[in-house]
Amino acid sequence: MNIAEFYPRKSLGQNFLIDDNIKVKIIQACNVSSEEFVLEIGPGKGALTQELVKLAKGVVAVEKDVRLFQMLCQTLGGYLNLSLVNQDILTYRISQSNTKVIGNIPYNISSPLIEHLLMQKDKISVIYLTLQKELAERIIAKPRTKAYSSFSIFVQYHSVPTIKFIIKRGSFRPRPKVDSAFVEFVIRKTPAVTVKDEEFFFKIVRAAFGQRRKMISNTLKGLVDQEKICQTGISPSIRPEDLSLDDFGRLANSS
Ligand code: SAM
Repeated sequence: MNIAEFYPRKSLGQNFLIDDNIKVKIIQACNVSSEEFVLEIGPGKGALTQELVKLAKGVVAVEKDVRLFQMLCQTLGGYLNLSLVNQDILTYRISQSNTKVIGNIPYNISSPLIEHLLMQKDKISVIYLTLQKELAERIIAKPRTKAYSSFSIFVQYHSVPTIKFIIKRGSFRPRPKVDSAFVEFVIRKTPAVTVKDEEFFFKIVRAAFGQRRKMISNTLKGLVDQEKICQTGISPSIRPEDLSLDDFGRLANSS
C-alpha cells in the first residue's frame, strides 16, 4: 500500500501531525543528543521518526498498525540506528536503560500507557507525550483544584510532569475534536514521598478519590482509623482534594 491509498483508523487514534512548526517545536523540546536511545511510540507515517533518527544514537519505533509499519520499513528502513517494531506498545517492555520516550500517542490509550511506562521507570530518563489537553491538566493538577485526582497523585509520585506547550487541533489530520498538550515527565529516581508500603499508599489514594465529595473519615474507614488520622495532624473531616502527596504519605505511614 502506498501513502495515497492509506485511510486512517479511528480505533488506533490516527491523527497525523501535519504542522511543520509544531514538529520543530516537539523535536527541540525533546533535546535528543547523539548519545541517547529513544523509544518512539506510534511513529505513524514517520513525521517525528525521520528527525529522531538523525539525532539519536538509536531509535526503537513501536507501531501497532501493520500498514504503517510496512510503509515505515520502506521509507526509513535504510537507517541502521532505527529498529521498527510492529507491536502494541502496551505489551512492549523497554530493555535499554536511560531511554528517552517520545510519542504523539493515540488518545484512547493515554492513561494505561502512562501507567505502563511509569511501571518501567527504572529504564527511562524522561517521557515526552502529546496528550489531550484535559488529561494533561489532570496530570499536573495541584491540591484544591477540580482537576486534582488519584491519577495526578500517581503520576506526580513517580515523575515531575510539566505542560511544555499547547497544540491546536488543526495541527493534525484528520483533525481531532480537542486540543492537545505536549507534556514532559521527568522521572523521579526516588518517589515524591517516602512510604512504607506503596500498594497501601495508592489504595488509600484511590479509596479517598473514589468518593471525592466525602470526608476522609468516611472513605478511609477500614483502612486508617479515625484516631490514626488525628495523630497525623490531618483533620478527619477533610476531603481528598485538600490533601497533598505528603499528606497521603503521612496517612499511609500512620497505620
Ligand atoms: N507519530 C505520528 C505523527 O505524529 O503523525 C502518528 C501519531 S497518531 C496520533 C498515533 C499513532 O499510534 C498511529 O500511528 C497509530 O497507528 C499508533 N498506535 C495506536 N495504538 C497503538 C498501540 N497500542 N501501540 C503502538 N502504536 C499504536
